Amino acid sequence: MASLNSNFILKYFTGIRVKLTIIILGVTLIPLGLLGFWSYNAQKEIITREVTASHIELSNTLARGIYENLEFTRKLLNSIGELKVVQALNKEVSEDFFNSLMRHFSFFKLMYLINSDRKILATTDPSVALPEDWLFSKAVKRSYQGSLSEVRTTFDGPPTMTLESVIRSPNLGINGVLISEVNLTSIKELLKNALKNSKSQGLVFDEVGAVIARSDDSAGVSDVAFSEVVDSDITNLKTINGESYLITAVSLKKFDFYQAPNWTIVLQIPERIAFAAAYKFREKIISMLGLTALISIIIAIFLARGFTVPIGKLVDGASSISQGNYDKEMKSTSSDEIGELTQIFDEMRVNIKNTKAELDSKILQLSTLYEVGKAVTSELNFVKLQNMILDIVAKVLKAEKGSLMLIDDAEKTMTIGVAIGLSEEIARDTKLEIGDSVAGWAVKNRKFLFVKNVEENEEFLKIKKQNIKGGTLMCAPLISKDKIMGALNVSKSTPYSFSDSDFELFVNLANQVAIAIDNARLYRYAVTDEMTKLYNHRYFQQRLDEELLRADRYEDQISLLILDVDHFKHFNDTYGHPEGDRVLKTVARLIEKSVREIDIPARYGGEEFVVICPGKAGTSALVPAERIRKAIEAFDFRINGVHVPITVSLGAACYPENATTKAELIKKSDTALYYSKENGRNRSTLYNPIMVEHKE
Ligand code: GH3
Ligand code: MG
Ligand code: MG
Repeated sequence: MASLNSNFILKYFTGIRVKLTIIILGVTLIPLGLLGFWSYNAQKEIITREVTASHIELSNTLARGIYENLEFTRKLLNSIGELKVVQALNKEVSEDFFNSLMRHFSFFKLMYLINSDRKILATTDPSVALPEDWLFSKAVKRSYQGSLSEVRTTFDGPPTMTLESVIRSPNLGINGVLISEVNLTSIKELLKNALKNSKSQGLVFDEVGAVIARSDDSAGVSDVAFSEVVDSDITNLKTINGESYLITAVSLKKFDFYQAPNWTIVLQIPERIAFAAAYKFREKIISMLGLTALISIIIAIFLARGFTVPIGKLVDGASSISQGNYDKEMKSTSSDEIGELTQIFDEMRVNIKNTKAELDSKILQLSTLYEVGKAVTSELNFVKLQNMILDIVAKVLKAEKGSLMLIDDAEKTMTIGVAIGLSEEIARDTKLEIGDSVAGWAVKNRKFLFVKNVEENEEFLKIKKQNIKGGTLMCAPLISKDKIMGALNVSKSTPYSFSDSDFELFVNLANQVAIAIDNARLYRYAVTDEMTKLYNHRYFQQRLDEELLRADRYEDQISLLILDVDHFKHFNDTYGHPEGDRVLKTVARLIEKSVREIDIPARYGGEEFVVICPGKAGTSALVPAERIRKAIEAFDFRINGVHVPITVSLGAACYPENATTKAELIKKSDTALYYSKENGRNRSTLYNPIMVEHKE
């Protein structure tokens, strides 16, 4: 069972179904997968390019905005420095002016004015102090470079930067510095506005990497580290806190702005947002691959069925044939090569079947002929032989009826020797003239007759005399050494149920049968007494020898009866010899009827008969003797209608009880017969040693 299972599994996985599935899957999935992969990557590339382009455009706008913002503030401060009151360093007027400026421009956080002695002359915040390391010379230098300080960021407040404007008086030269702390929130506003309609987030770094502004403060948005920012227009993929971003960095230095700070604008977008479309596409491709795989498998299964079902039928058919069953028809269900193969295979099956049937029939013919041949040589008993022959013939040809008809040479008529399927009366009483009916026709014309359908065969309809209804028949003349002996008939009630090969066999059988019957007839002729049809004296002697040997071999006994018709000389003298012959014939029949099958009756000579009774000894030998005697005594012999009594006398002797040789046994029986004659006739006597030997 285990090996059957593993065989089945092995067959399944090496079978056509799996191969087809793999091929179809390969053919569909590989190109689709490659195309999907390629499209996905191309989409990502396009998206990256688009993101880069939009980031650069945004950066440009932002850079200009930032620059203009700073530039405006600086110019505003410079123009304040050119005011007369400020140049005159007038504290009250300046402070009033500063305060009103701060009210108008909210980005000014603080404003104060110092003179050349580093003294604060006017301020919007009295608590302000000039940083310790502030140097006038450096401020002048910075004014030439753009008057920008570093950005300062406080922990909670917005980032600020310091702007300075050196005040030059036409006559006094540099006489002070206007210092203002500017709130950089506006840059954040710029970023926010610029990125309003974008999914990207923006960051602005100052030159040392401090974040000046970010577009989105919400949690979950990560800042790229300044060290990772590459100043270029290329968009890079960076992972920040486990999330991938497409990042584009643009430095303000790139633009040829006058006195621009070295800030960097960074725009970033999470990869999952940027590539959302590509990811969706990838998902679609994967589900399409799945669907294609499913469809491929279904197609493969159906295609495979187209192969495996007819091949399976072919395999079934072939295994049937290999088991010797040639009857299972194989129908081709497809018009392809497999269908053609199935058709050819079925033709082959039919051919093999026919050839086998032919061979079987030949074998049957040969074995039947052999059987009949055996019967020819082994069975010389004429009646037994006839029965045996008809049995074999009827069995082999599956005949329902059969008969062996023999020609009675003396009367030139035909009678049924043995029959199968016929009533006893018909078998006994049928008597045909030569030329009469089917068998008579076959004998007269010495021709075989094969009537496939008795109702349609013209020749048969002309021949037949009896009213035969339906069926088929075959009739053969029995001819041996040119001598016609009779006819063999077989028939069936179904028309066409004998085949041509049946007829061929029948012809061969008939020839064998004829030889067998001829031989048996010759033999019978040699051993039979012509008048009484009992065995003759020669055969009796031969059989008695054999029976004695047999009795010796099996330690068996034999009794021998001798019978003599009483006063037969007188009968002959009274009624004539022919009447005497008739009596002898009747006596012979009565003897035959009174003994067992195994007993051997024979005509000893004249009006004397013998019966060899194997197995009989002592007084039981008198049982058949008495039966014969009584049968003859009781028989109504008539001459000219008048009863004439006939009696016989019998003597019996037993071997080995009364004799040790054949001659002695015959002699002792004769002595017993003589005793019967001497003691009144019409009696039977068992030999007794006290009897006087009979001498002629
Ligand atoms: P019994 O035997 O009773 O002593 O008297 P029997 O008259 O029969 O005497 P026996 O045996 O001597 O005579 C035999 C006669 O049988 C002689 C012969 O005429 C007759 N017989 C022998 N063979 C044949 C035969 O073939 N046909 C006829 N019709 N008679 C035969
Ligand atoms: Mg006699
Ligand atoms: Mg006699």
